[in-house]
Amino acid sequence: MAAPSNIDSDKLLQLASALQTSLDVETLIEIFSRHLAPMVHHQGLQYANEQMGIDLTIGETGPHRSSFRLDLEEEALGELGVFSAETLSASRKKIVETLVASLLYSLRNALMYREAISASARDPLTGINNRSSFRKVLDREVELSHRHGAPLSLIMLDVDRFKSINDKHGHVVGDLALKSIAKCMLSCIRDSDILFRYGGEEFCIALSNTSLAGARKLAERVRRALEILVVRTSGVRLHVTASFGVATLEEKEDAGNLVEKADHSLYRAKALGRNRIASHDDTREQP
Ligand code: GH3
Ligand code: MG
Ligand code: MG
Repeated sequence: MAAPSNIDSDKLLQLASALQTSLDVETLIEIFSRHLAPMVHHQGLQYANEQMGIDLTIGETGPHRSSFRLDLEEEALGELGVFSAETLSASRKKIVETLVASLLYSLRNALMYREAISASARDPLTGINNRSSFRKVLDREVELSHRHGAPLSLIMLDVDRFKSINDKHGHVVGDLALKSIAKCMLSCIRDSDILFRYGGEEFCIALSNTSLAGARKLAERVRRALEILVVRTSGVRLHVTASFGVATLEEKEDAGNLVEKADHSLYRAKALGRNRIASHDDTREQP
């Protein structure tokens, strides 16, 4: 496409090559904002893509907001909002539209990359985080906890006698039960708690800023929620229970220590009769 006469074609080339340096959506919008600034003065940009759950703002919001649809070959990539002190004139809007055309391909690549990364971290059956993302996330949480001196706790849980569900009703029903269990747990936790499928019928919840007492409370909430959960499938109504191991990170411990303590507590909860919570430095097992 020929550049409008008021845009230097070098500037378009510079923008295009800068956009090729990143696959991160936020960085792309920042680069775009930097290149747009000398031609169209603006206070900030907003990029929203409802389908992918993205809504990010670079810079400041302003009294005026002009909106630009980001469509590439009939593919909707979202919407770009330009915040400015005054309403953008038609010629300024035209400049934004011309620059947006350079953004589209890089943005589509970045969105595809983001989707691939997120799919590789997700468990296909339940849709929650999988084991490969668990260690990465936990290492990060451990580092943050040590750096800020904030408590970090971990809950590990294992569904009780799950093998008998498969044996009695078949794997398809077992899979459905696992999906319902994950959904039920998601409804019990806060946004800052991170749920993982650790293995077959084992799950973990990483709880930042949460003491052992707080983690036990949440484990109890999840335990009760699962106890009253009814998994309904063609002609079958299933009840499940789970056992829980709870641990909190101590000074000088790493993610491996935390997992080991939670795992050990879980083992004790099973040994003590299942459908209960055990924690590494507490002998008050429930119920
Ligand atoms: P416990 O109370 O000691 O945990 O008993 P359990 O039967 O749950 O433990 P066990 O480790 O003997 O069996 C786990 C079962 O979980 C066996 C396996 O077939 C089932 N399982 C693991 N992953 C899946 C899955 O993705 N789908 C289904 N349907 N079953 C699974
Ligand atoms: Mg197990
Ligand atoms: Mg089990």
